[in-house]
Amino acid sequence: MSNEPAIGTRAICKACGERIVFVSPYWDHVGEMKPRHIAQPQAEAPPDLLAAVAAELARARSQHAPLHSAHEAYAVILEELDEVWSEVRTKVIDRTRLRKELIQLAAMAVRAVEDLGL
Ligand SMILES: [Zn+2]
Repeated sequence: MSNEPAIGTRAICKACGERIVFVSPYWDHVGEMKPRHIAQPQAEAPPDLLAAVAAELARARSQHAPLHSAHEAYAVILEELDEVWSEVRTKVIDRTRLRKELIQLAAMAVRAVEDLGL
């Protein structure tokens, strides 16, 4: 089957969050402890969500200089996380705003990896 993953492909189990590996024709949990449920890979993040993170990253790049150090990256990420917290602690969470803040947080984490050459 052509859309089957390659043998040895790693993923995260949808049921338990543990690491799993593809051992054709099925997925198996990695390691000695085998849960009693069937290993099933989590769906990947939907393309529109990753596109939103990429768009936010491009917007941030157009407005701010690259991150120069791990300390600077931490400060920027913490600022974004504080904005998430501001939304989370409201009595009625605005899901659209929370999504926007989380996408900004994700974009800054990606930016840190890129700018610091990690
Ligand atoms: Zn599992």
